[in-house]
Formats: sequence, structure tokens, C-alpha cells
Amino acid sequence: MTSLADNLRAVRARIDDAARAAGRDPAEVHLLAVSKTWSAEDVRALAALGQRHFAENRVQELVGKAAALAADPTVPELHWHLVGQLQRNKVGPVARLGATVHSVDRASLVTALARAAEREQQVLDVYVQVDLGGPEGELGSRGGAAPADVPGLADAIVAAPELRLRGLMAVAPRAEEPGPAFERLARLSTRVRADHPGASETSAGMSGDLEAAVTAGATVVRVGTALFGTRPLTSDAGQ
Ligand SMILES: *Cc1c(COP(=O)(O)O)cnc(C)c1O
Repeated sequence: MTSLADNLRAVRARIDDAARAAGRDPAEVHLLAVSKTWSAEDVRALAALGQRHFAENRVQELVGKAAALAADPTVPELHWHLVGQLQRNKVGPVARLGATVHSVDRASLVTALARAAEREQQVLDVYVQVDLGGPEGELGSRGGAAPADVPGLADAIVAAPELRLRGLMAVAPRAEEPGPAFERLARLSTRVRADHPGASETSAGMSGDLEAAVTAGATVVRVGTALFGTRPLTSDAGQ
């Protein structure tokens, strides 16, 4: 069994190697640890190794784990991210926590998040999630806005003073090689940045495809399995 420290070192080395091979500065690629299904104890252990950014894909688990760790004075301050689908009726706790939301994919969610952020007197960092679809017609299967809708969503986010557009997020489609999909994301990101220079981040790449994402320009990679191990099979652990 490898230790969490070994896993963290190995993931960081994969990121750094991919960045250097692509002629990029490894320091511009940040690791987001996806702790879904793992315990607050596991998060605490990774935090003790220096990791500060953690992500969950379900609001209830996000809020519960964040509260458990915030209550522990031995744990440094952590920053939380939501990488899963968000329903409008669950934006309140996410805004209260000041979590970064990677999964904004429709105008109604922009409105709901902006209102909740205003109520909680927070400014929320958000990403527009893009559905990279693919030739097999997977559109819609893993969440995200159609590429054609992304510039409009970006405009709506920038128009809301309570939201800060950080960039685009995507999950590679299952039915094709990740490289070309991440290249499409990079092109869309360049287009969005032309209008909104602050949208400088690209959240892409997971345990299995982080090299392809870094090669295509990802600045945030979201890694669960390669850090914590294989998730126990649960009906709603999601991807
Ligand atoms: C679970 C998840 C990840 C991490 O996936 P691993 O393959 O375990 O690294 C990344 N992004 C999203 C949106 C996820 O739901």
C-alpha cells in the first residue's frame, strides 16, 4: 500500500513532467484534491501534507466535510470547490461556504448563485462547465453547457458583481481520446478570454488524463483516485 504522501508526490511529479514536456511552467498548474466519498480524516491527512484546495461533487458532503474540518483548530484553513452538478435550491450553503463552483452550466444557475452570494455577502469564484460532447454524440451526459452557449454564460457571470469568472471547466468525454477534447476546450477558453481577460484558468484533467489536460493548457487539475485510492462503489459517487 502506498502512502498518501507518496501519492501526492507522484501526482505532483506527473503534473510537473507534463508541464515541462509542454514547455510550460509547472508552477502555473494547480492541484485540486477531489475528496468525494473519502472521510474528513483523509482530508485532514492530505492537508497536513500541505494540500489546501479540496473538491466535492455533492453539496451535502461538501458542507459537512468543510464544517468538520473548520471545527478542528489543528487543520489549516482550507478552500473548498464544488465540481458536481448544482441545483438552484442548494446554492445557499455553497455561497455561505464561499466555495468555488466549477459547474455553472445554465443562466438560471448564474442568477441563483449571484442572489445567494449577495445574501451571504460573498463574492464567489465560478467556472463555466463545458460539455465537450464528442463525435459519438455524448452531449449532455456529464453536465456542462454546449460550447455555443458558453460565451453568453460568461457574459452573464461577469455582469453579476457577486460572481468572479475564473475560467472554463470540463470533463473529457468517455468516447474519444482526451487530447483533442481538451484542445477544443483550450480554443474556447482563448475565445472567452478575449472578452474577459480575468477568466485565465482552465479546470481540466483527472487521475486518468491529467497529462493530456496539462499539455492542452489546464491550470487546475482535479484529482481523486490517484491521491486517495479507488473510491468505494456507491450508487451516487458520480464521476
Ligand atoms: C470525481 C471527479 C474528479 C476526480 O476523478 P478521479 O478520476 O478520481 O481523479 C474530477 N472531476 C470531477 C468533476 C469529478 O466528479
